[in-house]
Amino acid sequence: MLYLSCMTTVERFWSAFAWAEPMQDNELHLITIGNKLQISGFFPTYKNRSRPTDLLSWYEALRRNRSRGKPNSEEDSPHVVFANADNDEKLIAFVKRFGPVVAEFVHEEFGPPHLLTAKQDLAELRRERFVYCSALSLVLEVKRSLARPKRRFDFGKSLIRDIVSNTSHWPEQWERERKLRKREPSWRPTELDRIQQIAVSGKDPFLPADLDGRIVICELLNTFRSLVFPNPTELHSSIRYGIRPLLYAILRTEFLHPRETGVCENTRCRKFFALKRTDQQFCSSLCSRHQRQRDYWQESGKERRAARMDQKRRYSR
Ligand SMILES: [Zn+2]
Repeated sequence: MLYLSCMTTVERFWSAFAWAEPMQDNELHLITIGNKLQISGFFPTYKNRSRPTDLLSWYEALRRNRSRGKPNSEEDSPHVVFANADNDEKLIAFVKRFGPVVAEFVHEEFGPPHLLTAKQDLAELRRERFVYCSALSLVLEVKRSLARPKRRFDFGKSLIRDIVSNTSHWPEQWERERKLRKREPSWRPTELDRIQQIAVSGKDPFLPADLDGRIVICELLNTFRSLVFPNPTELHSSIRYGIRPLLYAILRTEFLHPRETGVCENTRCRKFFALKRTDQQFCSSLCSRHQRQRDYWQESGKERRAARMDQKRRYSR
């Protein structure tokens, strides 16, 4: 706990963080061509105060509203929307709203209008969602372990293995971006080997079980370091090839600050949601009812089976 509370963060500060601004209806323009998404929007000028495509401002506004109990607090935060996007339809809606997560190509037309177009590979998008979902689950697992240090960390370890198998292509992505930019990207995957070693290592008898989880989260977050920018142009350059650094900036906040995101305890749901109470276990009352019914039938089924076995034994004597 000391470790977490001692860490400080230097967040990136500028008034806005949009990849592009909407062309119509508060959304970017998106077309699907085979397994590629082509996304277009106006280069951000930040003149419109509503900023619907600004991921970090949206996250912060929802956080503020939730803490004040405002009515739109039912809406999910962008990092929860991305982590929960378990099909292409949801992933495409996310990209249409906020821009590419990892672009394999970006084209700029200086106009007027000043336009930005990116290509996002759908398979790459699915993998990035899976890494992010596993990383967010790992953050929650580590926080649970901090509250109960004797707890087993098997689930955390399986999440680390999922992260390893889906981040192996990050060095290729980095190289692709370096070639397109003609200089080094602001993110850098340097410690993937360490994560790989942790994924296959056994438990150390002297160290807390969740330490592996904390190391992996730190390495992921340090891949997308916190930076400060002197102007919007340089800030935009850091997210030109995708808004992934912003998603990891949110993950950093979720890791360093009190728990604000939960994962549904309903084993058939497992969705992320914004916590309204610290002890909230389910994303909705429906999920709570379904899980409790299942638990009840499982428990009473066990009792009924035991009674049947008992009866059988008595008759067979
Ligand atoms: Zn649920």
